[in-house]
Amino acid sequence: MSDFYEILGVEKNATKDEIKSAFRKKARQYHPDVNKAPDAEAKFKELGKAYETLMDDNKRATYDRYGEDGLKDAGFNTSGPFDGGFGDLNDIFESFFGGFGFSERATNPNSPQNGADLRLNLQIDFEEAVFGVKKEVKISHLETCDECNGTGAQSGTKPETCSTCGGTGRVQQVAQTPLGSFRQITTCPKCNGTGKVNVNPCKKCNGDGRLEVERKLTINIPAGVDNGSRIGLAQEGNCGKNGGRTGDLIVVIYVKEHEKFKRDGVDIYSTVDVSFPQAALGDTIEVDTLDGKQELVIPAGVEQDKILTLKGAGVPYLGSSQRRGNHNFVVKIKTPQNISQEEKQLYKKLFEINCNKKPSSKFIDKMKNVLHN
Ligand SMILES: [Zn+2]
Ligand SMILES: [Zn+2]
Repeated sequence: MSDFYEILGVEKNATKDEIKSAFRKKARQYHPDVNKAPDAEAKFKELGKAYETLMDDNKRATYDRYGEDGLKDAGFNTSGPFDGGFGDLNDIFESFFGGFGFSERATNPNSPQNGADLRLNLQIDFEEAVFGVKKEVKISHLETCDECNGTGAQSGTKPETCSTCGGTGRVQQVAQTPLGSFRQITTCPKCNGTGKVNVNPCKKCNGDGRLEVERKLTINIPAGVDNGSRIGLAQEGNCGKNGGRTGDLIVVIYVKEHEKFKRDGVDIYSTVDVSFPQAALGDTIEVDTLDGKQELVIPAGVEQDKILTLKGAGVPYLGSSQRRGNHNFVVKIKTPQNISQEEKQLYKKLFEINCNKKPSSKFIDKMKNVLHN
């Protein structure tokens, strides 16, 4: 638990004036605009909490007797004035120190503002992701109005200086806060801080200087993209204001599933059915790959779940499409069903050979049954 007196650097019996002056001094020292230390904001908030508690006679008495936990038990809000109620740190600071020369922080609405990046989710087919594709898309973004060149004013006219703030964009008000009244400098409500009023707004963009335009774009999707791959299209986002840069368009790729193939990075996985005789004797069979039919060698004696690999039949590496991953086939051995009489005889013979001895009498009885049905 922190000691509020220590935080403010005052004695236990400090007067309100001493607390107030200690708070001002420390708050200036720790304000996150002034102090770039990583813990400055936390310290600034601590100061606010200490100040608020010690300036309130009831809270201070409770705190002196029972500490910070006592305040919570007594139902006081102990989060301090900077969490909730007052809004953001900057507002607080302006309301405390607006009259003391610390109000330069608010951003100037006339300074360049960068346009926003836009995001487009694009779903493509499995093969398109593997081999690359060109896609035409339509996107809506903000462009600088061609009628007024982004000024927002009708051609031949100019925005006029705001009469409310005299062009400074700021007005002074006296704000009543729980800590007393403070002079506060706020953004001019008439011109929104620009210092100018657009008397003859451009008719095409309604004075905004920007227009929403739909554009057709061709997106080159390279071979090897995967789920979640991002493609950036420079300057296809929203245009900026006051000379700020135009944002980018970020295309995020979503790949549809394939009915047969699974993909893991640059490798493809699928299953291959192998019969008993093929498994025992080996074979060469035709399999489906990304490039169509290819031959796959089944080695004699292959076992269930063995992986047979066709090298280079996988997905191209993104950015170097000459290199490709592998296609891995997982062997699934199929137990024969509904076999013919001839097959039954052969399997019986196989069984006898496998047992390498005379079959048991029980087995012979069973086989007799099978063969005579
Ligand atoms: Zn315009
Ligand atoms: Zn104004």
